[in-house]
Amino acid sequence: MVSGNVITRILSPIISGLKHIFFRPITIKYPYERTYNIPESNYRFDPKEGVAYPGYKGRHILYLDKCTGCGACDRACENIAEAISMVFGYDVILKLDLSMYEELKKCGEVSSIIELFVEPFSGELKSFEKNGDTYILRMNNDPIFNYRCEVVYENLLEDSLNELVKRGWASELVEYKPMEKMKFKISRDAKVIELVIEKRDFGLKHNKRSTFPAIDYGRCVFCGFCVDACPFYALEMGPSYELSSLEREELFYTPLMLSSRFFETYPPETTWSEKTVMLFRRYR
Ligand code: SF4
Ligand code: SF4
Repeated sequence: MVSGNVITRILSPIISGLKHIFFRPITIKYPYERTYNIPESNYRFDPKEGVAYPGYKGRHILYLDKCTGCGACDRACENIAEAISMVFGYDVILKLDLSMYEELKKCGEVSSIIELFVEPFSGELKSFEKNGDTYILRMNNDPIFNYRCEVVYENLLEDSLNELVKRGWASELVEYKPMEKMKFKISRDAKVIELVIEKRDFGLKHNKRSTFPAIDYGRCVFCGFCVDACPFYALEMGPSYELSSLEREELFYTPLMLSSRFFETYPPETTWSEKTVMLFRRYR
């Protein structure tokens, strides 16, 4: 005869196993599931209380609506890794007179000039607007983040301008505000094109200079000192650890990248039934 004790010993693991079907698992099935940005689990610092809350020290999360551009995070990082730079967002615009645009179009030169300038910006013109008797051609939608407009020029536009000079155009810097604006006059036979690199004003009351931190993950050692230094609760460190890249430039995270949330991405071979199971695991 089987004693009640033995029955209990047989049934209790089965009951426990069945019960856990309805519990949310602690482990995750990486890479089919990822960690999520749950603000309470981020590494953060309360400057008023002077208390740091323990949490995952992965990729930073920047709250643009709180960042005043004070640069305290940048200064905190200076003696650690020099991974932070305060950057501005720039716009690159070509301005062409309407009649001159038509003239250049007739001789088939306009498209080659536009191609020359859009090539460093993913090869696409982002907008083509008419303003009075001028066409305004924008090279970017999202701002181009850098700490100086001079560097934007050197990295993205200098070669295109030199190519135009080789084709017989003359280029002259007609307006220059260090770090803020560069305007070039490109001319040939009474035809004039304007190239403008200008700092974008985000119109934020709390950040009048429109400057934000960008982080170079090729240098960051994930110490969290920048988070501790932020007086405005604008910087935290979250659970995202997938930061490796084959390209050095991709390790430079702009303020927009730092402000984005983590999105779930499944490996391409994941089937719909697997995705459904993952969703069930996540939301139960
Ligand atoms: S966490 Fe990275 S960016 Fe922040 S202070 Fe440390 S090294 Fe610099
Ligand atoms: S993240 Fe914080 S410390 Fe850094 S610039 Fe913005 S407000 Fe200042």
